[in-house]
Amino acid sequence: MAALDIPNITLHDGTEIPQLGLGVFKVDPGEAERVVADALAAGYRHIDTAAIYRNEAEVGAAIAASGIPREELFVTTKLWNSDQTRGEEAFAESLDKLGLDRVDLYLVHWPQPMFGEALTAWKSLLKIHESGRATSIGVSNFEISDLEEIISETGVVPTVNQIELHPLHQRRELVEYCEAKGIRIEAWGPLAQGKSDLFERPAIADAAAAHAKTPAQVILRWHAQQGRIVFPKTVRAERMVENAQIFDFELSDAEMAAIDALDEQKNFGSNPHEMDAR
Ligand code: NAD
Repeated sequence: MAALDIPNITLHDGTEIPQLGLGVFKVDPGEAERVVADALAAGYRHIDTAAIYRNEAEVGAAIAASGIPREELFVTTKLWNSDQTRGEEAFAESLDKLGLDRVDLYLVHWPQPMFGEALTAWKSLLKIHESGRATSIGVSNFEISDLEEIISETGVVPTVNQIELHPLHQRRELVEYCEAKGIRIEAWGPLAQGKSDLFERPAIADAAAAHAKTPAQVILRWHAQQGRIVFPKTVRAERMVENAQIFDFELSDAEMAAIDALDEQKNFGSNPHEMDAR
């Protein structure tokens, strides 16, 4: 199973992460093993899951069945909110389900400032990282104030912040803050979760026509051209192939600017500081 030719991004700790992978949020456990197997067969080597997706075991089964050497794969999972004060135990459970002795990237899933446990969670990730069982550690859905707290308290800067980000929701202030600190942006919901009319907007549709690409490819290219890491979700093998074919064309400055102009500060997921689900 040949790997796709996908560029790596170097995180500030020296780890290399494939810039594009497959996300498996809302991939039903009954389908997840087949979906990940299809992605690996298509040449994907980066899978983004989370404990709360309840499909770590199926992701692990597909990895094991693929026979792909572990060092060729990049696996991310995340610490769920109700586990913030038992990070090391929850991490061990994730590893067990994945059938791995190490993940490449482990993230605190949400900051949940209303509970005040994110710093405790981050400290447990530092221990997990020191043990070598998570090659890199980072966070997700952290706002500037959440990042400032963990960085000032521990002196350790997360390698990534995985946030909702797409043309309708560009988070410029947060992105600038992260870039200044060397924190790489992972854009979740990179296609706005398929919940908008984004694909029909002229800035996207015109660029797609000009480059003989699909709207999804144009949006993913817009992310990639800004150095972001993406893992669009699809359960369809043909879309996995489509979504990965974004490294053979370039959007012009004018095309990039037209997509930049679509920002409406409109998110489709939860507001990070209001998300209190446990
Ligand atoms: P996404 O933007 O990747 O959208 C997925 C949807 O887009 C699909 O269900 C499908 O309807 C559509 N789609 C995908 N490829 C397409 C194509 N080629 N043409 C047309 N439509 C297409 O949304 P997402 O799944 O929410 O985000 C991607 C990944 O980000 C997730 O699977 C997960 O790994 C991660 N994520 C993380 C968080 C977090 O809190 N950290 C939250 C949500 C998602």
